[in-house]
Parts: sequence; C-alpha cells; structure tokens
Amino acid sequence: MAQINQNYRKLAAGYLFPEIARRSKSYLEAHPGTHLHRLGIGNTTEALPPAIIEGLREQVERLASNATYSGYGDEQGSLPLREALVSYYKAWGVNLQADEFFISDGAKADAANIQSLFVEDSIVAIQDPAYPVYVDSNVIAGRSPSFDHSRGYYDKFVYLQGLEEEGFVPSVPTEKVDLIYLCNPNNPTGAVANHEQLKGFVTYALKHKAVIIYDAAYSEYISDATLPKSIYEIEGAQQCAIEINSFSKFAGFTGVRLGWTIVPHALVSEESEVGELHKMWYRRQCTFFNGASNIAQAGGLAALTPEGLVQSRATVAYYMENARIIREGLLGLNLKVYGGDNAPYLWVKTPLGLSSWQFFDKLLNECQVIATPGSGFGPAGESFIRFSAFGHRENIVAAMQSIKDNLRLENQNER
Ligand code: PLP
Repeated sequence: MAQINQNYRKLAAGYLFPEIARRSKSYLEAHPGTHLHRLGIGNTTEALPPAIIEGLREQVERLASNATYSGYGDEQGSLPLREALVSYYKAWGVNLQADEFFISDGAKADAANIQSLFVEDSIVAIQDPAYPVYVDSNVIAGRSPSFDHSRGYYDKFVYLQGLEEEGFVPSVPTEKVDLIYLCNPNNPTGAVANHEQLKGFVTYALKHKAVIIYDAAYSEYISDATLPKSIYEIEGAQQCAIEINSFSKFAGFTGVRLGWTIVPHALVSEESEVGELHKMWYRRQCTFFNGASNIAQAGGLAALTPEGLVQSRATVAYYMENARIIREGLLGLNLKVYGGDNAPYLWVKTPLGLSSWQFFDKLLNECQVIATPGSGFGPAGESFIRFSAFGHRENIVAAMQSIKDNLRLENQNER
C-alpha cells in the first residue's frame, strides 16, 4: 500500500500570492476596466541584452547541425561556464575551483534540495521574514512536527528575526543549530549583512560545526562596495558554507532558468570528512539531475563575458533606478522606507498602525497599486509591505503617481 508523505499535510497553506490574486480579481470585478499597477512581483520584465541573446542564438544554431550538435552535457555544468564563474568570483577576491561549482536550472530548486545532504533531525535556523522555500523544503523533509497557528511558526525550527531596530539583519542563534539559512540581500526586506555580521555567522558555524546555506540570488544588486557579495569573502566560510546563486535576477534569466551552487571541498559538518559533502552533492546531482539546458548555459557564459557583464549590469541599474523612484515617492509621503539601495525590494512600514493586509487593501482601493504584504513572509513581516522594483519604467512612474495623488494618509480611523 502506497502511503503519502504526511509532511505535506503540515505545510501551512500557500496563502500569500493566491490571496493577492483573489483580492485583485474581486477588485477588478467590482471596478471593470480599471488598470492595476503591479509592484508586487519579483519577476524580471526587461528584454535580455544583445550579448546574451547572441550567446543563446549561437547555441541554438549549433544544435541545428550534426557537426556541432551536443546532447547531454556534464551533470555539474559546462566546464567553460564553471571556469567563467571562477573568474567572476576572483573579481572580489574569492578563490574557488571549477569543480566546486554545480550549475543548476535555478536557485530555487537547489535551495529546496540542498537540505537532503543532512540528517532528518537537524535543527534548522531560518530568517523571519524570508523567501518561503527554506522553510517549506525542511517541513517536507520532516524537520518540523507541526505548525503552531498561534505563533505562525513551525515547531522545532529556530527563527532568526530581522527586526526594524537592528536593520532587519538577524543575530546569530542563541542555541545550538545545525543548518542556518541566510538570504543576503534579503528577500523581502532588501537588507544586506555587512562583513562583521556575516563573520558572526561564520564564527558561530565553525564553533558549532553547523552549515550555512547562503542564498545570494541578489548579490549583483549590491552597489555599496563595502558590503560582501559572497559569503566566501569571510575567512573560514569555505569550511562551513554552501552558496547558492542565480542568473535569474542578475542576467534576466527568470524564464531561461540557470543558477549555480558552490559546495567547497573544504566544507565539513559535525561528523563528515573533509570533501565528503562535496562528493555527496555531486552524487546527488548525478542521480537526480541531468544537467542544465545547454542553451541556457551558453546564455550564462555570454552573460559572464566582459560585454555580457556590462550589459547585464545596465539592466540591474535600470531596476535600481526604479527602486530609487519608488523610494523617493514613498519618502515624499513620509512613509518609512527600508531596502531598495542594495536590493530590488523596498520594505515599507505600514502607516496609521495598519496591518500588512489592511495597507495592501488601502493601496489597492485608493491607488490601484498591488504590493506584497510583509506578513506573508513570516510573522516578523507584519506591519510591513514589500514593493518590487521589477517593472517597466513607465509602469513604475505611473504607480508612484497614483500613490502620490490618491493615498490618503491623514485618516486615523482606517482600522
Ligand atoms: N532565491 C531568492 C531569494 C529569490 O527571491 C528567488 C526568486 O525570487 C530565487 C532564489 C529563485 O531563483 P531562481 O529563479 O534561480 O530559481
């Protein structure tokens, strides 16, 4: 008799985006013909730059002839791409080897799957608020017995709260944990840990033989040169951290699908031998994955050429100008705005004591703007809302104009 994995039943409902869609739909039904300004979604909107298009096109052409056709490639990813990534990291002083990189079809799957390297009763520490995949993948893997509805937390997980007064960067755990998920720059708060703060986590992990799973999907959005872009900029991190990254938000590959994970040879956990975790991830990828698309990898390689980097960074700069426009607009209304300077997300304190969802409704009803309620990313996100800087400039400008013209902030009786 086949039995289901009961851990799926423990997952709290994926409430956030379906609920946003439901409220938007019912608003449109009540106000037919209205245009909604969508500043909620973390999806890229701008066309790929010419250098990347050329790389993708050339690989498609190679597939068109028997002489240049290629089928399955190396499970770990094409060697030229991994070597290009080695050079990419060298630019900020990080020395890695090509065989420490595992090319994937995106960061989300790696962020979900990496936990399979660790024993089921591992104690997991997760940022609150955070991108949901870290929590959900560990629930499915059986690391929490239940969801505590009164607190909004899964039992047995250790939550590292990003608090306003601490700039939303959490402190290291106060108890012993085995796995620590860090999303830096953080989605949704846009906060970025500095060297000292990351060093605190690395020191903790080395002391407790914990492993840090470091999601750096937005590292290319860090413009402050004093902030670390990779956890491996911190001494000792190769012994205690796995870094996951993506071409999605850096090169506009959300639909093309390409990412990478670094499992250094030096990485160790409580009882593993040096090199064992690297070998385990290699084994896992060879068993469960047949390599990323060779077309996507050719595009990734093109993105890492000098020309590709310049062009991709110009797209990142375009989104960051959107972020600046959003920030200026919201600050002009005396709202409290965080993030948006080293990340494409702005984390905005709800005014008038409104909850995240109440402010969502107010923006929708008064301004026809959709943002993402902070409480959907974890209990510590309550009383915040996330604005995304991904969008065409004219839409961003129109959304901000609508907020400026229509948002009523003087009414204290909104609740
Ligand atoms: N990690 C973070 C923090 C994200 O916000 C996202 C997407 O929004 C991802 C990973 C997913 O990346 P990918 O498109 O490479 O799967």
